[in-house]
Amino acid sequence: MKIILASGNKGKIKELKTLLPNDEVIPFKEILGDIEVDEDQNSFKGNAVKKARTIYDILKEKIDINELVVISDDSGITVPALNNEPGIYSARYAGANASDEENNLKLISKLKEKNLNETKAFYTACITIVYKDYEYTTHGWMHGKVIDKQIGEGGFGYDPMFVPNGYTQTLGELDYEVKKSFSHRTKALELAKKVFEVIFK
Ligand code: IMP
Repeated sequence: MKIILASGNKGKIKELKTLLPNDEVIPFKEILGDIEVDEDQNSFKGNAVKKARTIYDILKEKIDINELVVISDDSGITVPALNNEPGIYSARYAGANASDEENNLKLISKLKEKNLNETKAFYTACITIVYKDYEYTTHGWMHGKVIDKQIGEGGFGYDPMFVPNGYTQTLGELDYEVKKSFSHRTKALELAKKVFEVIFK
């Protein structure tokens, strides 16, 4: 099946392609070029629905809706000790178009302001599927802690600062297979695959 992915985030595109090995995952930019969807909703779900719905509504003018499946992923990391920051603002924590490195450095400075070497944190992923004009959403979470430094080159985003529960190394150090086995994105996508099984019958 061809799935249009309503995301431009390189890290997510790579992971979603790996997590959907039997499907052709096409980033929307390959078809539509640069389109910015304003992520102005107040929840992961709100932003995920908005991204998928916006891209779906543009593409349904060009593609037979029986052939059109759009999915989006809105995700981020939440740190309860920092008033749940960065949460839905994870991608732009250090400002619009901030790099992963800039966002990580901002999170590190916020932890240091509170004298926290480490504290509980969790990732959330909300996947939205739009197919034949209906919207379906699923969620997944991964729990652990953030530390006040970046260790390792693997993963993307906040991964070099995140140590999953049950491990002593960051996702930047651990093999991707470890993250793949229980990540927020894996869990949300496993549920999304169950939706696929039903709606494509
Ligand atoms: P979105 O594109 O608005 O959903 O932004 C997601 C942001 O959350 C990314 O830019 C990362 O900063 C962060 N994020 C989400 N998922 C992950 C992950 O699996 N690893 C590391 N950072 C993530």
